[in-house]
Amino acid sequence: MTNTLWDVVIVGGGPAGYSAALYCTRAGFSTLVVEMLSAGGQMATTSAIENYPGFVKSVDGFELAMNMQQQAEKHGAQTFYAQVEKMELNGPIKQLETSEGTLQAKTVILATGADPRMLGIDREQALRGRGISYCATCDGGFYRNKTVAIVGGGNSAAEDALTLSKLCSKVYLVHRRDKLSATQSYLLPLQKAENMEFVWNKKVVELGGENRLERITLEDTLTGEQSQLELDGLFVAIGRVPNTQLVAGQVELDPQGYVVADETTRTNLPGVFAVGDLRQKPLRQVVTAVADGAVASKFVEEYLAHWEN
Ligand code: NAP
Repeated sequence: MTNTLWDVVIVGGGPAGYSAALYCTRAGFSTLVVEMLSAGGQMATTSAIENYPGFVKSVDGFELAMNMQQQAEKHGAQTFYAQVEKMELNGPIKQLETSEGTLQAKTVILATGADPRMLGIDREQALRGRGISYCATCDGGFYRNKTVAIVGGGNSAAEDALTLSKLCSKVYLVHRRDKLSATQSYLLPLQKAENMEFVWNKKVVELGGENRLERITLEDTLTGEQSQLELDGLFVAIGRVPNTQLVAGQVELDPQGYVVADETTRTNLPGVFAVGDLRQKPLRQVVTAVADGAVASKFVEEYLAHWEN
């Protein structure tokens, strides 16, 4: 794989990456997906996806990921398991240094997604999976009839709060402002849920408990006063951080770190495309990620038609 000049190398094997692979390989291009661990990205950690069209009973994210990979590979795409360490994306031949050797490509499709933003406080990493979670859909079931809190004020926090209010005995929604920025459709059901309590103008400053999270310390953003909440679980839903560090300085990024690329998926660099969650877009969902992958193949084709070294 390292001795080939690939038509297309796709970095990241989530839904956007494998959909790009499927369309590019079917268009007749030699196509390689570079994936670090296993297919699916964030999607693979979701047990029941209910809003991906075509699945009446919902679909398991891991299973959907495996199917997307197999489908792309059935049509000729290949997968290279390695960590990309450095990319040189200028010029007609792109160089990708990986843990398993250097790859060369005429085009590169960036599909590395985005990770949950962390609170950035002491012991957060140590307690991750021990009372701290970044995905209510994935981990909510572990907190049935327990007391939990969600941090955040956007759609993710509101959606998580609704999910958890149906499972848990008590749900606190902690936000550093005095109102949510979530869409209206979430607000009414949240206000109606009897086990929901809004905790306004507070930020989490300390995580307590020996081997598991047992309590959090909150600080009032207006008065500085501190208080504590006894909890079984804390769900952090404060946005996402795009995985674009490797291309910073080469590919144009917006102030939040997302790749600047419109519906064509083209970036500022000729022959470099961005698909899925790492791209600027109004809605980050599996369905919009796979659409990006398909669209990218059209512009890859256009670029390769005029490619010369
Ligand atoms: P978001 O809209 O960026 O909201 C992040 C929230 O976290 C804000 O309330 C922010 O507060 C707060 N926050 C950020 N950093 C914090 C910190 N260090 N400590 C405490 N609070 C912090 O992120 P999101 O809710 O994950 O949504 C991301 C995108 O996905 C949005 O476009 C959203 O509409 C979309 N989404 C859509 C749906 C849906 O349509 N069903 C569901 C989920 C997500 P401040 O306002 O104070 O910064």
